[in-house]
Amino acid sequence: MNSDCIFCKIANKEINANLIYEDENTVAFNDLNPQAPVHFLVIPKKHYESLNEIKDKEEFGNIFSVIPKIAEKLGIKEYRTVVNTGESAGQTVFHVHIHVMAGRKFTWPAG
Ligand code: AMP
Ligand code: ZN
Repeated sequence: MNSDCIFCKIANKEINANLIYEDENTVAFNDLNPQAPVHFLVIPKKHYESLNEIKDKEEFGNIFSVIPKIAEKLGIKEYRTVVNTGESAGQTVFHVHIHVMAGRKFTWPAG
């Protein structure tokens, strides 16, 4: 728990978010500023600043393996997943999170 971290506060229910999934290790919630009709974030409950800080294979498994479960629950078969790591990659919240977006056509390469 990092007391300055907004996503730690969401994981700890200290601030409200629109939670769509929760288990022992992860939480998923709708993005406040959605970039697609469906746009949610998956985070580990434990604080890691970015993907670079996760050394534990199990933790990678925890956060990625919930995505297909949530997608199935939401009836989504096609989606874009994004993990921004570091400022130049577009990371603005320094608690690792996976963006999952769906409901529109996505272009490639990402901007
Ligand atoms: P990134 O730029 O990859 O670090 O993504 C951070 C994301 O967190 C952005 O898409 C924001 O819209 C989203 N965000 C920031 N604060 C909140 C919040 N309180 N609840 C939900 N999403 C948030
Ligand atoms: Zn945090």
